[in-house]
Amino acid sequence: MTPAPSGPGSATRPTTSVRRSAELFDRARAVTPGGVNSPVRAFNAVGGTPRFVASAQGAWLTDADGNEYVDLVGSWGPMLLGHAHPEVVAAVQAAAARGTSYGTPTEGEVALVEEIIDRTPVERLRLVSSGTEATMSAIRLARGFTGRDVVVKFAGCYHGHLDALLASAGSGLTTFSIPGTPGVPASSTELTLVLPYNDRAAVEAAFAEHGDRIACLITEAAPGNMGVVPPEPGFNAFLADTCRRYGALFVSDEVMTGFRVSRSGQWGTDGAAEGWRPDLMTFGKVMGGGLPAAAFGGRADVMHHLAPEGPVYQAGTLSGNPLATAAGLATLRLATPEVYDHLAGVADVLRPAVSEALTAAGVPHVVQSTGSMFSVFLTDEPVRDFAGASRTDVAAYAAFFHAMLDRGVHLPPSAFEAWFVSAAHDDRAVQAVLDALPAAAQAAAAARPAEADQ
Ligand SMILES: *Cc1c(COP(=O)(O)O)cnc(C)c1O
Repeated sequence: MTPAPSGPGSATRPTTSVRRSAELFDRARAVTPGGVNSPVRAFNAVGGTPRFVASAQGAWLTDADGNEYVDLVGSWGPMLLGHAHPEVVAAVQAAAARGTSYGTPTEGEVALVEEIIDRTPVERLRLVSSGTEATMSAIRLARGFTGRDVVVKFAGCYHGHLDALLASAGSGLTTFSIPGTPGVPASSTELTLVLPYNDRAAVEAAFAEHGDRIACLITEAAPGNMGVVPPEPGFNAFLADTCRRYGALFVSDEVMTGFRVSRSGQWGTDGAAEGWRPDLMTFGKVMGGGLPAAAFGGRADVMHHLAPEGPVYQAGTLSGNPLATAAGLATLRLATPEVYDHLAGVADVLRPAVSEALTAAGVPHVVQSTGSMFSVFLTDEPVRDFAGASRTDVAAYAAFFHAMLDRGVHLPPSAFEAWFVSAAHDDRAVQAVLDALPAAAQAAAAARPAEADQ
């Protein structure tokens, strides 16, 4: 493995000024809702000024004021190799020089699809440009293939911002859902069933009642979007089996976990061992290497229903974009078993260190992980579903987050997100995180409500 070089400077230097970021944030808010192009970036959950990044190298971000941070967000997952990996940059530059988009097939697309098929149980794959597009298309295809309309999902799992899945559960477990956001018509979510994660009885009940109408069940292969909440042993196998019994498709969303938690994602971690296999899978994030690329694929007989072979329509002007496929292919080819060993090693140092610091400060917490992806819930019980995740102390997390940020560590600006490490997180980057932890844990302790210890 050749990690991208870490940036210069020292993360132990306290953040001096965020004046330039604050100015840019004001400018941005005048022209873009919330000043951001995706809501979580606005720091609403933690308060304060989002850092406008000027450049990134390896494990490090440099903001518009020249402050440096160890990055534990990694663009929310894609940056498996770290930022500006020289070979990925070279691949993108070479592709750009050959033209940025043609609207015709290219060899790069075939090579990327072959690489993914090689690592996963997918037999046919189509490229799109975002994870949202991938899940939206997979659900359309599942409905077209089965001739059924109902979709089952789990509370706390995020599959992108498509209307049908922006649903919150109704009062009863197997009632159909109401939209989780204004702007989504009730008719878009009334065919969506939302169930509690890791709850076999709820799945059994939903299929017993509505099984003949269910086109598919979609789940994060290992949820990371409510913080990391691993599937209980055998849960994915149970889901796959339940879908098969009722003639529904099992859609495993690996947009976050794919090529992140192992060379072949969560399926490679426990699917092969537990004997489950999705009918359809979705990918994104890592497979684009930091450029917009995503994909959905699966059983050949199901994918055969997709236009132009079959009647289910799906298309995209920039699908299989040559820059994105070049970045994705370079990233996947560089993601060797040694890279995954390195990620595991870094996570194995950080997880217990976070836990020790919080314990020393008297802050109740649980650290949960799937592969090298982990998150820290400031709550005293293991989290197995969204209701459990919701018990995390968000005020204490905000204090912890800002104390880390002030000490040069960029964590996700929300208590309900995974922390991502990269192949470029070397000893110096890890040490910078370790150095920041004790004071951040004290800040979290100070932010807890006084009655919390009674
Ligand atoms: C990020 C994510 C998506 C959405 O991908 P976008 O590229 O943001 O549209 C879908 N599913 C999962 C599991 C994700 O983590």
